[in-house]
Amino acid sequence: MIKFDIITIFPEIFDSYFNESIIKRAQKRKLIKIKVHNLRDSTTDSHKTVDDRPYGGGAGMILKVDIIFKAVKKIIQSNKKINKKQRKIILLSAKGKKFDQKTAKRLSKLKQIIFISGRYEGVDERVAKYIADEEISIGDYVLTGGEIPAMVILDAVSRLVPGVIKEDSLKEESFSIDSKEYPQYTRPEIFKPKGNKRSWKVPKILLSGHHKKIKDWQKKHSKALEK
Ligand code: SAM
Repeated sequence: MIKFDIITIFPEIFDSYFNESIIKRAQKRKLIKIKVHNLRDSTTDSHKTVDDRPYGGGAGMILKVDIIFKAVKKIIQSNKKINKKQRKIILLSAKGKKFDQKTAKRLSKLKQIIFISGRYEGVDERVAKYIADEEISIGDYVLTGGEIPAMVILDAVSRLVPGVIKEDSLKEESFSIDSKEYPQYTRPEIFKPKGNKRSWKVPKILLSGHHKKIKDWQKKHSKALEK
């Protein structure tokens, strides 16, 4: 069982995604646990201030280190059975290390992952330096917030938790031994959109029933997900 804690100023963003399909079932079966924390609950002023202007000037607002520290501390203190080695605090950041399947596998061995989702112009750099264990990016582009990246990582990691996905699908999906993904097809065997000159066909080899040849074809057309 992995516990995911997500710190955000927009907790409702997660409601629909986490209450559907595989992620919903995984929670029901207690294979994963998800808790979303509103950063504003860690403020003490009447305006529930979570951000401030950047030192040295510049556009936009920055999420405050003291409020994030408090939110993380509260989560750690309410999970005393989980020790530091079993937990990672991840700051979502466009300048972080690029997320991949290998990282998902490594993270799936943990007991707890705490995500810190940035917003606005970003997060006070001291969060990366003193609070987070890792800074992770989901790609070389800038999003409006860390919520989608948190969902992406949570989803990829959850699939690797034993029992979340049927063993068979997981084996095929990752080609297990070396994490590869090959092209897949389903019915109809031939599809011809109206007005198209050509029909779109399933590669013949997949219809041959020749198990060894099919496996060879799949291997040849696999794309490595891990380096
Ligand atoms: N000023 C920041 C910059 O130039 O990188 C952009 C901040 S962005 C508008 C707000 C937040 O979205 C970030 O603090 C981060 O948490 C999240 N974010 C944006 N792009 C991301 C990415 N590619 N991967 C992970 N998190 C991202």
